[in-house]
Amino acid sequence: MKAVEPRQLGPDSKFKFLCHKGISCFTHCCSNVDIMLTPYDVLRLKRRLGISSGEFLEKYTVVRVDKQSTHPYAYLKMKDETERKCPFVVVPDGCTVYTDRPVSCRYYPVGQGTLKKSGEDGNIFHEEFYFFVKEKHCMGYKEKNEWTIDSWKDDQEITLYDGMNREWKQLLMRRNLPGQPGLDDKKKMLFFMSSYDLDKFRGFVFGSRFLEVFDIPEAEIEEIKTSEEALMKLGFKHLKFILGLEQTLKVKESVLKAREAQARAARTKDSPKETKPE
Ligand code: SF4
Ligand code: SF4
Repeated sequence: MKAVEPRQLGPDSKFKFLCHKGISCFTHCCSNVDIMLTPYDVLRLKRRLGISSGEFLEKYTVVRVDKQSTHPYAYLKMKDETERKCPFVVVPDGCTVYTDRPVSCRYYPVGQGTLKKSGEDGNIFHEEFYFFVKEKHCMGYKEKNEWTIDSWKDDQEITLYDGMNREWKQLLMRRNLPGQPGLDDKKKMLFFMSSYDLDKFRGFVFGSRFLEVFDIPEAEIEEIKTSEEALMKLGFKHLKFILGLEQTLKVKESVLKAREAQARAARTKDSPKETKPE
């Protein structure tokens, strides 16, 4: 159980901390931990390991469905032993994927949460806040290096990761919106694919009627052919669209007209036949 310090922190809050190879607790925090992955975590890790997103998800993750939102999330699959070690930790050397480690490893020992607030105009908005996780085994707090939350985020490349995941994190707030239904099996599958399984999503975009149905600018189509980051962001737009949160994708006029014509034809077919008087 993590020891969360009950104090809400902002970007300028100060703390002293250092984690380094010579510290007595080195790698202690890489066991017995639940690490929920973000889409950018998966992109960086699968690229680092030189494998497809599908292989990465199969080998290194487990899926857990969040009870409230019904979103399926990928968690790092800890080694099946009593200590539940992270698959990427080697004792005593440390993290074997350090430069591509997940964003929650980068945040540690800082935790991040979101508060739902109501503005003067009555509109609901979300405000980010931070807190410390102080676990007995962690000696980093005894070191002298001083940080603010913001300087920690810059040092650990969290600002880059948060920027990449921003649109996706907005989706996670869906559970706080009134009247949001749970996802059926098809939407769960689409949620998981568009969030994490980038190579499968690429196949879906270029191998299905996706580009015939949606009006995607030519420049964006060219970009997603070579940039996985751009493809990931198209995945977030797709998610917002299918969850009915924002009209992030535009259905082509020709498709809408064809659908209308089809609907008219179906109505004509179903309407009762005219009967001639005897
Ligand atoms: S990914 Fe690296 S830093 Fe994160 S828990 Fe695993 S070994 Fe530790
Ligand atoms: S327990 Fe704290 S100081 Fe020790 S390795 Fe983990 S983060 Fe670093």
